[in-house]
Amino acid sequence: MSAQLLDGKIMAAELEEQLKNRVEALKEKGLTPGLTVILVGDDPASQTYVSNKEKACARLGIHSDTLRMPPETTQEQLEAEILRANADPAIHGILVQLPLPRHLDSDRALSLILPEKDVDGFHDINAGRLSRGMDCVVACTPKGALHMLKTAGIPIAGKEAVVIGRSNIVGKPMALLLLQENATVTVCHSRTADLAEHTRRADILVAAIGKPRFVTADMVKEGAAVIDVGINRVDGKLCGDVDFDAVKEKAAYITPVPGGVGKMTIAMLMDNTVSAAEKAL
Ligand code: NAD
Repeated sequence: MSAQLLDGKIMAAELEEQLKNRVEALKEKGLTPGLTVILVGDDPASQTYVSNKEKACARLGIHSDTLRMPPETTQEQLEAEILRANADPAIHGILVQLPLPRHLDSDRALSLILPEKDVDGFHDINAGRLSRGMDCVVACTPKGALHMLKTAGIPIAGKEAVVIGRSNIVGKPMALLLLQENATVTVCHSRTADLAEHTRRADILVAAIGKPRFVTADMVKEGAAVIDVGINRVDGKLCGDVDFDAVKEKAAYITPVPGGVGKMTIAMLMDNTVSAAEKAL
């Protein structure tokens, strides 16, 4: 069996078409959605992510304002910029690109972003509201992964879902979203005993670990939907947390890396920004 590819490029392009219409509708009412991205330091991966976000804004007609700050930026300088963007009525979304240089306190910085402008969904209030099943801004990567499952018509309610990884930005919100969709959810992590015993039960398996090709075919149930969130670089090439070539022969659905969840993350950032602008209107 060879799995059906869940193509992030195609799904993100479809979403962008809908977003263009929503941006147009806002502009007709005199409002242009605006996103501020704050990038501190010169991490090459972060620079690539930020430039991809700028390009997505340009494609959709969203005003983007990237603030590139030097590596020696102080906490006070960073916080002053967040407060400035909070107060700017032309800005509906604020994103602080992570990771920040080690001398900066990212939790403190993120907590200063107005929750309604927190388009990454990392603010304590949005994370708390998600855990209570309330309306909130949902973190872009898990939101994108869920969108892929739903777009492909993969049943979630009543299914066994296993998430590997418990980070605040991917694993935990992913588990909460699947729970909201009435899956039976298991969260695995680095201290899980006998990981494969859990993953082999999964109808939906989400890998958010950060270890290249960690999920092998023997860890996957025949006919599972496998969502690979990982982005790893091996010999200069990108690969996911899933051993794609072997697992695709066993799974029913699989996301590629690159061209999978990563594309959806940016599309969902745009979605969160447009939604924030719609709410502001
Ligand atoms: P993280 O380092 O914060 O968390 C990794 C998680 O994996 C931890 O909870 C840890 O317990 C778990 N883990 C580590 N080793 C394990 C093991 N041997 N067995 C089971 N669990 C183990 O990472 P993160 O920020 O959640 O990101 C995870 C991956 O997703 C990374 O590759 C990252 O680059 C990628 N990512 C991709 C996107 C995207 O847009 N596609 C967005 C964010 C992160």
